Amino acid sequence: MIDEDKLFEAALIIKNSNYIVVFSGAGISTESGIDDFRSPGGLWERYDPNIYASYQYFLQDPSLFWKMHKEVEDLVGTAEPNQSHLTIAELERMGKVKAVITQNIDMLHQKAGSGKNGAKIYQLHGEYGKLHCIKCNMEFKYDEIDTKNVEYPVCECSGYIKPKVILFGESLPHGVLEGAMNECTNADCLIVVGSSLLVSPANFMPSIAKQYGAKLIFINRENTIMDDLADVFLKGSAGEIFTQLLKIIKLNIKV
Ligand code: NAD
Repeated sequence: MIDEDKLFEAALIIKNSNYIVVFSGAGISTESGIDDFRSPGGLWERYDPNIYASYQYFLQDPSLFWKMHKEVEDLVGTAEPNQSHLTIAELERMGKVKAVITQNIDMLHQKAGSGKNGAKIYQLHGEYGKLHCIKCNMEFKYDEIDTKNVEYPVCECSGYIKPKVILFGESLPHGVLEGAMNECTNADCLIVVGSSLLVSPANFMPSIAKQYGAKLIFINRENTIMDDLADVFLKGSAGEIFTQLLKIIKLNIKV
């Protein structure tokens, strides 16, 4: 059961804000069928991310990463945005959301329409859809190379080919972190959704926004390690919470 008073409190913050920045994590996409890292029973119980999503392990043996990635490819390739992604795009159309900072590589914000009305999208951990050779840096699209019938794809130069997603131990794409941090300094409201806030440096965003005066709304199924930063913590399913929030804002109920 979502706390109604807190829903109205969050709706009021959104109504009074004109530069909302959204910071999303894997939890926003679980309702689209893509497992997050922490919830029990998913893909990641079979593939420990500390091994299968580690750059160090990738360099030693790329077949580990590719074994896991083939399953992720199937999930991400067919996933559709859910009510959370759609509401964030709607809030952008309403002139509220100015930037989306995401830790996700699934491109569901873009599929939902985010970025079409001027908001900037910062994909801190890269994106699904493009690949590159880690040796010569040549870029590929998925339909240009065979990723299905080989243990792992190799470039003509003999370098390993890897999707342009950031693995644990890898640097973030140049300029993206700086751009995202800058957005947090401009925000009058930061909505943090579906993140355990355990991954650095992505998890710097809430404290930067807070330091620069933004109101913070957290939407998550469980507590996070940074709950004390939140002005409002909405506990529950993000899809349901965003649906309720949008209803309150659109009905223009006196909040
Ligand atoms: P996380 O897995 O550490 O935490 C997800 C959080 O979301 C958890 O606290 C969980 O309780 C919550 N959650 C799950 N489903 C929810 C829902 N429907 N509504 C509300 N809350 C929900 O995720 P993270 O903090 O993003 O860090 C994990 C790393 O994994 C990131 O670096 C990200 O790049 C990567 N990752 C991305 C994807 C993706 O692209 N969809 C999927 C898995 C992992």
